[in-house]
Amino acid sequence: MNIALIAHDSKKELMVQFCIAYCGMLSRHDLCATGTTGKLVAEATGLRIQRFLSGSQGGDQQISARISCNEIDILIFFRDPIKINHNEPNEAHLLRLCDVYNIPVATNIATAEALIHALERGDLDWREIVKD
Ligand code: PGA
Repeated sequence: MNIALIAHDSKKELMVQFCIAYCGMLSRHDLCATGTTGKLVAEATGLRIQRFLSGSQGGDQQISARISCNEIDILIFFRDPIKINHNEPNEAHLLRLCDVYNIPVATNIATAEALIHALERGDLDWREIVKD
């Protein structure tokens, strides 16, 4: 499965801890991420991650484009729900595309853990079938 990772600055440490906790599981999948998120996770875990641009430079739009091309199966996007964010329109578009293409998406750790366990159980294997 192709898993995309994005974390706002205040959530980057959470993303790193999440990826350390599920490193073994994540290593069996293809990972991509926005620039800084990918760098921090790769440094902390040794996971291979395709890195796009930073979110503010268009990285989330690069991930949006891959969702439109059916190249992303799961999005884990830890957002800061409090801080004002100038990239909000692009992020809203990214989440809209997840709904358009029926992509499982987690915007907080509780849902991300539920998704990871679902992935481990094979509950998301239907995505591979849909792609074929
Ligand atoms: P980053 O991009 O991973 O490069 O920080 C994400 C964001 O800016 O929200």
